[in-house]
Amino acid sequence: MSSDISRITRALEFACRKHVHQRRKGEHGEPYVNHLAEVAHLVAEATGGNDANLVIAALLHDCVEDQGVTRDEIGAVFGDDVAGLVMEVTDDKQIPKHLRKLAQVEHAARISARARVLKIADKTANLRSIQHSPPAWPAGRKRRYFAWAQAVVAGARGSNPAIDAAFDAEVEQAMAAGIAQRGFVWHAGLETEGDD
Ligand code: ZN
Repeated sequence: MSSDISRITRALEFACRKHVHQRRKGEHGEPYVNHLAEVAHLVAEATGGNDANLVIAALLHDCVEDQGVTRDEIGAVFGDDVAGLVMEVTDDKQIPKHLRKLAQVEHAARISARARVLKIADKTANLRSIQHSPPAWPAGRKRRYFAWAQAVVAGARGSNPAIDAAFDAEVEQAMAAGIAQRGFVWHAGLETEGDD
Protein backbone atom coordinates (compact mmCIF):
# COMPACT_ATOMS: atom_id res chain seq x y z
CA MET A 1 0.00 0.00 0.00
CA SER A 2 1.33 3.41 -0.90
CA SER A 3 0.57 4.77 2.57
CA ASP A 4 2.86 2.08 3.99
CA ILE A 5 5.56 3.04 1.53
CA SER A 6 5.45 6.67 2.60
CA ARG A 7 5.42 5.75 6.29
CA ILE A 8 8.50 3.56 5.74
CA THR A 9 10.37 6.26 3.84
CA ARG A 10 9.36 8.78 6.50
CA ALA A 11 10.84 6.48 9.16
CA LEU A 12 14.03 6.12 7.12
CA GLU A 13 14.33 9.90 6.83
CA PHE A 14 13.57 10.32 10.56
CA ALA A 15 16.25 7.74 11.47
CA CYS A 16 18.84 9.35 9.16
CA ARG A 17 18.31 12.71 10.85
CA LYS A 18 18.33 11.37 14.42
CA HIS A 19 21.46 9.24 13.96
CA VAL A 20 23.27 11.72 11.67
CA HIS A 21 26.40 11.98 13.84
CA GLN A 22 26.49 8.36 15.01
CA ARG A 23 28.84 5.74 13.58
CA ARG A 24 29.19 2.00 14.10
CA LYS A 25 32.00 0.77 16.34
CA GLY A 26 33.58 -1.47 13.69
CA GLU A 27 36.81 -0.81 11.83
CA HIS A 28 34.98 0.71 8.84
CA GLY A 29 33.09 3.15 11.10
CA GLU A 30 29.98 2.91 8.92
CA PRO A 31 27.18 5.45 9.34
CA TYR A 32 24.85 4.11 12.01
CA VAL A 33 21.91 4.16 9.62
CA ASN A 34 23.55 1.29 7.70
CA HIS A 35 22.75 -0.90 10.71
CA LEU A 36 19.15 0.32 10.83
CA ALA A 37 18.68 -0.38 7.11
CA GLU A 38 20.11 -3.88 7.54
CA VAL A 39 17.83 -4.71 10.47
CA ALA A 40 14.80 -3.32 8.62
CA HIS A 41 15.59 -5.45 5.57
CA LEU A 42 16.08 -8.60 7.67
CA VAL A 43 12.68 -7.97 9.28
CA ALA A 44 11.01 -7.26 5.92
CA GLU A 45 12.37 -10.49 4.41
CA ALA A 46 11.53 -12.62 7.44
CA THR A 47 7.93 -11.38 7.47
CA GLY A 48 7.44 -11.63 3.71
CA GLY A 49 6.96 -7.87 3.47
CA ASN A 50 3.66 -8.15 5.35
CA ASP A 51 4.35 -6.11 8.49
CA ALA A 52 5.05 -2.47 7.60
CA ASN A 53 4.92 -1.35 11.23
CA LEU A 54 7.59 -3.85 12.21
CA VAL A 55 9.85 -2.59 9.40
CA ILE A 56 9.26 0.98 10.62
CA ALA A 57 10.04 -0.09 14.21
CA ALA A 58 13.25 -1.69 12.91
CA LEU A 59 14.33 1.64 11.38
CA LEU A 60 13.59 3.36 14.69
CA HIS A 61 14.75 0.63 17.07
CA ASP A 62 17.81 2.46 18.45
CA CYS A 63 16.60 6.08 18.43
CA VAL A 64 15.21 6.00 21.98
CA GLU A 65 18.23 4.18 23.40
CA ASP A 66 20.92 6.13 21.54
CA GLN A 67 19.40 9.48 20.57
CA GLY A 68 17.03 10.35 23.37
CA VAL A 69 13.89 10.23 21.23
CA THR A 70 10.78 9.65 23.37
CA ARG A 71 8.05 7.09 23.04
CA ASP A 72 5.57 9.96 22.67
CA GLU A 73 7.48 11.44 19.74
CA ILE A 74 7.45 8.10 17.91
CA GLY A 75 3.80 7.56 18.79
CA ALA A 76 2.79 10.98 17.48
CA VAL A 77 4.47 10.46 14.11
CA PHE A 78 4.18 6.70 13.54
CA GLY A 79 1.39 5.55 15.86
CA ASP A 80 1.14 3.57 19.05
CA ASP A 81 1.84 0.13 17.55
CA VAL A 82 5.26 1.26 16.25
CA ALA A 83 6.05 3.11 19.50
CA GLY A 84 5.19 0.01 21.53
CA LEU A 85 7.39 -2.22 19.37
CA VAL A 86 10.35 0.16 19.71
CA MET A 87 9.95 0.30 23.48
CA GLU A 88 9.84 -3.51 23.68
CA VAL A 89 13.36 -3.70 22.23
CA THR A 90 14.78 -0.70 24.10
CA ASP A 91 17.10 -1.34 27.06
CA ASP A 92 16.05 0.10 30.41
CA LYS A 93 18.86 2.53 31.20
CA GLN A 94 17.84 2.58 34.87
CA ILE A 95 19.45 -0.85 35.07
CA PRO A 96 23.21 -0.59 35.83
CA LYS A 97 25.26 -1.22 32.69
CA HIS A 98 26.90 -4.45 33.86
CA LEU A 99 23.46 -5.98 34.54
CA ARG A 100 21.84 -4.92 31.26
CA LYS A 101 23.08 -7.95 29.34
CA LEU A 102 21.38 -10.31 31.77
CA ALA A 103 18.28 -8.11 31.73
CA GLN A 104 18.17 -8.40 27.93
CA VAL A 105 18.36 -12.19 28.06
CA GLU A 106 15.45 -12.30 30.49
CA HIS A 107 13.43 -9.56 28.78
CA ALA A 108 13.76 -10.95 25.23
CA ALA A 109 11.91 -14.11 26.26
CA ARG A 110 8.91 -12.12 27.49
CA ILE A 111 8.25 -9.60 24.70
CA SER A 112 5.68 -10.00 21.91
CA ALA A 113 6.32 -12.38 19.02
CA ARG A 114 6.74 -9.44 16.59
CA ALA A 115 9.23 -7.68 18.87
CA ARG A 116 11.17 -10.94 19.15
CA VAL A 117 11.60 -11.01 15.36
CA LEU A 118 13.04 -7.49 15.55
CA LYS A 119 15.29 -8.44 18.47
CA ILE A 120 16.73 -11.42 16.60
CA ALA A 121 17.22 -9.31 13.44
CA ASP A 122 19.16 -6.76 15.51
CA LYS A 123 21.41 -9.46 16.94
CA THR A 124 21.88 -11.01 13.48
CA ALA A 125 23.07 -7.66 12.10
CA ASN A 126 25.41 -7.16 15.06
CA LEU A 127 27.00 -10.58 14.57
CA ARG A 128 27.49 -9.78 10.89
CA SER A 129 29.17 -6.51 11.80
CA ILE A 130 31.59 -8.19 14.19
CA GLN A 131 32.62 -10.53 11.37
CA HIS A 132 32.77 -8.05 8.49
CA SER A 133 33.77 -4.81 10.21
CA PRO A 134 35.22 -5.96 13.51
CA PRO A 135 35.44 -3.57 16.45
CA ALA A 136 38.81 -3.37 18.20
CA TRP A 137 37.84 -5.98 20.77
CA PRO A 138 40.06 -8.77 22.08
CA ALA A 139 39.09 -12.24 20.85
CA GLY A 140 37.62 -13.15 24.24
CA ARG A 141 35.20 -10.26 24.15
CA LYS A 142 33.99 -11.20 20.67
CA ARG A 143 33.49 -14.81 21.80
CA ARG A 144 31.56 -13.54 24.80
CA TYR A 145 29.37 -11.31 22.62
CA PHE A 146 28.46 -14.23 20.34
CA ALA A 147 27.61 -16.42 23.35
CA TRP A 148 25.52 -13.63 24.85
CA ALA A 149 23.65 -13.04 21.59
CA GLN A 150 22.90 -16.77 21.48
CA ALA A 151 21.53 -16.59 25.04
CA VAL A 152 19.24 -13.69 24.08
CA VAL A 153 18.03 -15.45 20.95
CA ALA A 154 17.53 -18.79 22.74
CA GLY A 155 14.70 -17.19 24.69
CA ALA A 156 13.34 -15.17 21.78
CA ARG A 157 13.34 -17.70 18.95
CA GLY A 158 10.52 -19.94 17.73
CA SER A 159 8.02 -17.51 16.26
CA ASN A 160 9.65 -16.90 12.86
CA PRO A 161 11.77 -19.69 11.33
CA ALA A 162 13.27 -17.36 8.70
CA ILE A 163 14.82 -14.96 11.21
CA ASP A 164 15.96 -17.85 13.41
CA ALA A 165 17.73 -19.32 10.38
CA ALA A 166 19.36 -15.99 9.48
CA PHE A 167 20.74 -15.72 13.01
CA ASP A 168 21.95 -19.33 13.08
CA ALA A 169 23.77 -18.83 9.77
CA GLU A 170 25.79 -15.96 11.27
CA VAL A 171 26.69 -18.02 14.32
CA GLU A 172 27.77 -20.96 12.14
CA GLN A 173 29.96 -18.71 9.99
CA ALA A 174 31.58 -17.20 13.07
CA MET A 175 32.24 -20.64 14.50
CA ALA A 176 33.80 -21.78 11.24
CA ALA A 177 35.99 -18.66 11.30
CA GLY A 178 36.99 -19.25 14.92
CA ILE A 179 35.40 -16.00 16.14
CA ALA A 180 32.68 -17.78 18.11
CA GLN A 181 33.24 -20.95 20.10
CA ARG A 182 30.94 -23.97 20.04
CA GLY A 183 29.76 -24.99 23.48
CA PHE A 184 30.79 -21.71 25.10
CA VAL A 185 27.81 -20.68 27.22
CA TRP A 186 27.28 -17.12 28.38
CA HIS A 187 26.49 -16.28 31.99
CA ALA A 188 26.18 -12.92 33.72
CA GLY A 189 29.38 -13.45 35.73
CA LEU A 190 31.44 -13.12 32.52
CA GLU A 191 30.56 -9.45 32.09
CA THR A 192 32.55 -6.59 33.53
CA GLU A 193 31.61 -2.99 34.21
CA GLY A 194 33.53 -1.59 31.24
CA ASP A 195 31.84 -3.56 28.47
CA ASP A 196 28.79 -2.59 26.50
ZN1 ZN B 1 20.46 -2.17 16.79
